[in-house]
Amino acid sequence: MSQLIAIVGRPNVGKSTLFNRLTQTRTAITNDEAGTTRDRQYGKVEWVGKEFSIVDTGGWVIGSEDVFESEINKQVQVAIEQADEILFVVDATNGVTDLDDQVAEILRRSSKPVILVANKVDAGESLYNIAEFYSLGLGDPYGVSAVSGYGTGDLLDEVVAKMPEKDNDESDILDDIPKICIVGRPNAGKSSLVNSFMEQERHIVTDIAGTTRDSIYTRYNKFGFDFYLVDTAGIRKKNKVNEDIEYYSVIRSIRAIEASDVCLLMIDATRGIEAQDVSIFSLIQRNKKGFVVVVNKWDLVEDKSKEAIKHYEEAIRARFAPFIDFPIIFASALTKQRIFKVLETALDVCKNRQRIIPTSQLNTVMLEVISAYPPPANKGKFVRIKYVTMLKGSPIPTFIFFCNLPQWVKEPYRRYLENKIRENWDFHGTPINIFMREK
Ligand code: GDP
Ligand code: GDP
Repeated sequence: MSQLIAIVGRPNVGKSTLFNRLTQTRTAITNDEAGTTRDRQYGKVEWVGKEFSIVDTGGWVIGSEDVFESEINKQVQVAIEQADEILFVVDATNGVTDLDDQVAEILRRSSKPVILVANKVDAGESLYNIAEFYSLGLGDPYGVSAVSGYGTGDLLDEVVAKMPEKDNDESDILDDIPKICIVGRPNAGKSSLVNSFMEQERHIVTDIAGTTRDSIYTRYNKFGFDFYLVDTAGIRKKNKVNEDIEYYSVIRSIRAIEASDVCLLMIDATRGIEAQDVSIFSLIQRNKKGFVVVVNKWDLVEDKSKEAIKHYEEAIRARFAPFIDFPIIFASALTKQRIFKVLETALDVCKNRQRIIPTSQLNTVMLEVISAYPPPANKGKFVRIKYVTMLKGSPIPTFIFFCNLPQWVKEPYRRYLENKIRENWDFHGTPINIFMREK
C-alpha cells in the first residue's frame, strides 16, 4: 500500500504551489494517463523508485484566504490521523507567526514524522532567515522555493528517508481476495451498512490470521462471500472532531481507496450527489479502482416508479461522465433492502477487473470494429491497427493495440475503442487501459 504524505500549513505559505511542484515529478512518465483530469489536491509522486501519494489538505478548504484557526487545527488533525508523514509548510518571507506556533504544537504532540518546509527562499534575504524556524521545535527547516523548484529534490530525498517502514501486518493480506471499501460523505450510512452486514450474519466476520486488530482490512468469509472490507474500524469508530466537516470525508477516503480493488460510493438518496461525492469519485478514478454507486436510504424515497429510477440513474451517470459503465444499486442499510445485492455487485466488479478475453476472440471482434470505422487520417497518413491483445498480470484490464503510428491515435478514437470493448464484453464498474504500441 502506498504511503500518504500530507501538506499542511496556514493559507498563502505556498502549499498548493509546492504540491504542484512535487507532483510534477510524475507527470513526465505517465503520459499514457490521457483523459484523466489532474487533481489540484491529490497526486502521486515517484522519487528514487518509491511511489507515494501527496495530499494538500488545505486545498479542500473553501475560501482558504481567511480560514479560521479552528479550521486549520482540524486540517492538521485530519492529516495526523490519515497521513504517514507530514510536510509542514511555513513562509520564509515573514517568519514565525502565531498560527505557525499553534500548528507546530499540535504536530509535536503527534507521533507522525514531520518535515518542516520553509518556502519562498527565492525572495530577498529569506534564505538567511530560515534558522528562525528552529524555534518551532520540529528540527531542521528545509529551505525550498516551490516556484523555482530550488531545494525540492533534497526535500523529496528527506521524505523518502523518513518514510515509515511498511506495516508487517499487511504482508499477510491475501492478494487474490477482493478488497472492498465503502466511501462517501458523513451520514450517508456507511457504518450502518457495515453494521447491517454484521447483524445479518453474526458469524460473517471470522478470526483469520492476517486480520489483526490494527489492520485496515477485515476479512469476511461466509455464505459464498470471501472478501476484505477495508477500513471498517475507521468507519465504525467515528472521530467526532472531524466527522462534521464534510470536505474532510475526501481526505479520509484516500487510504481506503488506495488499499481497495472496488469502492462502493455511498450516496444519501434524500440529498443526491454533491461536490464531495465528485471529489471522492475523482480519487477512485485516479487510482483506477472498481466503482459501484450505492444509493442508500431508499426507504425514505416515496416515488420508486420505473421512471423515477431511470431519472435517478441518468442524473448520477451524468455527474460521473465520461465514465458511465458502472452499477447503481438502490438500497437501505436500515431495512436491509438489497444489502447482499450490494456485496454481490462489488464482487462481480472484481471479477470484471480480472477478465481476460482470449486474443483470437478479441481480434475477431475488434479488427472488424476498426475496419468499420478506422482511425481518421492525419495529414495524409493512415494509422493501421494490426492486432490487439490484453496484458496479463495487470491490476486492471489493459488492452494493447499494435499499429504503425501509435502517437496519432487521439482521445476520441480511444474512447470509441473503449465503448466497443464495453459493448462486447462485461467490464461493468471497472476502468480499463488502452495503450497504443508501435509494431
Ligand atoms: P497556499 O494557500 O498555502 O496553498 O499558497 P499558494 O500556493 O496559493 O501560494 C500563495 C502565494 O505565494 C502565491 O501568490 C504564490 O505565487 C506564492 N508562492 C508560492 N510559493 C512561492 C515561492 O516559492 N516563492 C515565492 N516568491 N512565492 C511563492
Ligand atoms: P456514516 O456517517 O456514513 O457512517 O452514516 P451512518 O451509518 O452513521 O448513518 C447516518 C444516519 O443515517 C444515522 O442516523 C442512520 O440511522 C441513518 N441511516 C443510515 N442508513 C439508512 C437507511 O438506509 N435509511 C434510513 N432511513 N436511515 C439510514
